[in-house]
Amino acid sequence: MIKPFHQDWPLTQGFGQNPANYAKFGLKGHNGLDYGLPIGTDVIAPHAGKIIEAATDPTGYGNYLKIENDKEGSVLAHLQDWLVNVGDVVTEGQLIAHSDNTGNSTGSHLHWGYYLLPRDRQNGYAGFIDQLPLLTENISNTSSNDSGGTFVDKITFETLVNKATKYDAFVTAGYPSASDIIQIILDLKTAKENIWKLYQEENTHVVDLTSQIQTLSQEKFDLEGRKKELEQTNIGLKQNVSEVQARNASLSTHISEMEKADSTAIDHGVKAEADLKNALSDLNTIASALNTNYPDVKKVLIAVDDLHQQIADNHTIQSDQQKSFQKYLKVFIDFFIKHKVK
Ligand SMILES: [Zn+2]
Repeated sequence: MIKPFHQDWPLTQGFGQNPANYAKFGLKGHNGLDYGLPIGTDVIAPHAGKIIEAATDPTGYGNYLKIENDKEGSVLAHLQDWLVNVGDVVTEGQLIAHSDNTGNSTGSHLHWGYYLLPRDRQNGYAGFIDQLPLLTENISNTSSNDSGGTFVDKITFETLVNKATKYDAFVTAGYPSASDIIQIILDLKTAKENIWKLYQEENTHVVDLTSQIQTLSQEKFDLEGRKKELEQTNIGLKQNVSEVQARNASLSTHISEMEKADSTAIDHGVKAEADLKNALSDLNTIASALNTNYPDVKKVLIAVDDLHQQIADNHTIQSDQQKSFQKYLKVFIDFFIKHKVK
């Protein structure tokens, strides 16, 4: 533990001094140390701890700070201002305030009260003790064998340790000094902040995932709707397929019937051609008879009309056959005109 300031300011009132002045407060004497700091001088933390009070007491301490850890506490009073807030964790030597003359004070100075935990408020000084013997500068480093230095001798340290059960727990766990505990607290604070950051990051992921789930749900819903439409279309297409198949079967039947009709028509054509050949043969016979006997022209014309009628009736006659027949008929008529048949 160190004095709560840097330079060597004088001790202006020691612990327990001037009992008469403090009797009215129920104290045996001055319950702290006063140092003659000028206004505005840096005030530093005499030991590590947490700021548990930062307040103004106009009739007493004025502006003051209270720092406490698991084994000890300090009050720093009559301050001009403070640079820390309640809950802040400070390390030994950290700048925390500036001195002044606020509250019940007759001149600029720093009042430093110090207590050990558990605090014995019935000790006549409201639990405060004379901390001068505990200052590092006043302690012989009897027990230390490490070059890093210790702040108090081993016996004092162990006495302090034994007074704080929470601190004992840390010692049992293997942490030997108050600064280690402060470090643990700082580490825990850092860990807590890291966990909070992780939580926030995870929370962001959760929000993203929730959003993605909503999008996918919407897509799923849309796809299900589309699936139903396609199923409906599929049913329609199946109906169309069966209709087309039925129509195809019907067309096959028609084709078959048409092929049959075609075949019949060809048969008729062949028969008609044969009939025509027979008629031509008959005509040749008649012509031959006429050539021999000069028969009556009227009979010949009737025969010609009959032939015309036969030709008109038979629509399957091939046009070239028809032409050759007409050519033949012209020769036949020329023959009659040439021989002046009557
Ligand atoms: Zn004082």
